[in-house]
Amino acid sequence: MEYEAVIGLEVHIELDTQTKIFCGCRNEFGAEPNTNVCPVCLGYPGSLPVMNREAVRKSILAGLMCDCEIAAYSKWDRKNYYYPDMPKNYQISQYDLPLCLGGGVPIAGIGFSGEPLAERTIGLTRIHLEEDVAKSTHLGKSSGVDFNRAGVPLMEIVSEPDMRSADEAHAYLVALQQIMEYAGVSACDMEKGQMRCDVNVSVRPVGETKLGTKIEIKNLNSFRAVHRSLLYEIERQIEELGDGGKLFQETRRWDDAAGVTSVMRSKECAHDYRYFPDPDLMPVEVSPEWLAELRAEMPETPHARRARFVAEYGITPYDAHVLTLEKPTAAYFEAAARGRKNPKLVANWIQTELLGALAKNTCSLANSPVSPAALGELVGLIEANTISGKIAKDVFAEMFETGKAAAAIVQEKGLQQVTDTGAIEGLVDAAIAANPKPVEEYRAGNPKAIQFLVGQVMKNSRGKANPQMVVELLRQRLDG
Ligand code: ADP
Ligand code: ZN
Ligand code: MG
Repeated sequence: MEYEAVIGLEVHIELDTQTKIFCGCRNEFGAEPNTNVCPVCLGYPGSLPVMNREAVRKSILAGLMCDCEIAAYSKWDRKNYYYPDMPKNYQISQYDLPLCLGGGVPIAGIGFSGEPLAERTIGLTRIHLEEDVAKSTHLGKSSGVDFNRAGVPLMEIVSEPDMRSADEAHAYLVALQQIMEYAGVSACDMEKGQMRCDVNVSVRPVGETKLGTKIEIKNLNSFRAVHRSLLYEIERQIEELGDGGKLFQETRRWDDAAGVTSVMRSKECAHDYRYFPDPDLMPVEVSPEWLAELRAEMPETPHARRARFVAEYGITPYDAHVLTLEKPTAAYFEAAARGRKNPKLVANWIQTELLGALAKNTCSLANSPVSPAALGELVGLIEANTISGKIAKDVFAEMFETGKAAAAIVQEKGLQQVTDTGAIEGLVDAAIAANPKPVEEYRAGNPKAIQFLVGQVMKNSRGKANPQMVVELLRQRLDG
């Protein structure tokens, strides 16, 4: 029997705010443990939370970027449980009335395993806001608890079970990260725990519309781990069912070193959190005026930018995808392409030469020695036939090294393309005289033999002859 995988993701993203969600403590990663704390985020009895408007603002922005409906009225609920990371014995979260509803995240590009992905939109169920809990570190027989993280504003983004492969789940995470970067609400650094992800996966026979038994995977520390764990788990579930086995709803733990999942807890241990409204907090009311303001200040989404790049600059959807992956790259492209006849050429130069040189020198786009305007100027020289694409590569290398302008380098080194017919004719005649064999082959009816002669002329002009003119003049001589 043929099976298909069904995947839904629950993603937690910490918001990049100055202060925590219900107190004035700094929201800062990497500080000395337990230095950004107060009675509220330590959960002292009698302390009272006060909502951080900026956390709500950033969540609404994120929601708008994902095309969610923003609830005019949402509220805070207590999720009750007992664990050292939460001494109040409850976490403030949102249960039945979340801030953002519906929406979706478009995915595109090349999948993590190298296959192209069909463009489609992964539906969202909801985005709600909650407080992060303290971070526990287990050290042999004891544990350390760092409350700097307690009270950091945290979004939970729940997807519909819309993904069908490990590649799609990976692409969804990349797209979410990209949206949050564009929105300016979180850096989504997984290594810093700013983005965390639980995976839900089931399989079912192709054609079946009912959902299969859901398995949740935890302990996923990278996008790669999400991808690998899914490949493993989908295979495992299909094998289990194929052998006539039955699956039970359970939570499994990913072991990255071993590359396997194993049972963590079964459905019987499922928590009942006994949610109830938090009596210490006002509900969240988003006025139509505030929402309109936020809509107006919402940045362009990555997918809108991708579509605009294709329409406005005539580049391929794939190039548009690569160039919009990070906001600075997209901005760089637009600045460099300004006024250029051939934006496609600019796109190529950024993707090959520029990003290549930056990577080699572990340099970021922000401090690139070649500015967008400077790269645009270089491409302009190619467009105007002042230099060939080949010479431009040398010019670029020098620009990257010295920060000099393209025109200055071309001038200094006399790299202008030779478009003077007389000068090229001389080289053409010399090449014909020195290479009787390819000349004979060409005349005997092998048009490819001309390539060698073109190469000779280009070499003797030190790359400066205009290649179209060389071909033309060679043909004139040989055919005549
Ligand atoms: P729970 O109540 O266990 O948290 P939810 O219904 O809230 O389950 O779903 C949690 C996540 O699991 C969502 O992202 C959802 O899309 C996904 N999900 C739900 N059922 C399935 C299923 N049968 N297979 C795969 N994913 C699923
Ligand atoms: Zn505090
Ligand atoms: Mg749920």
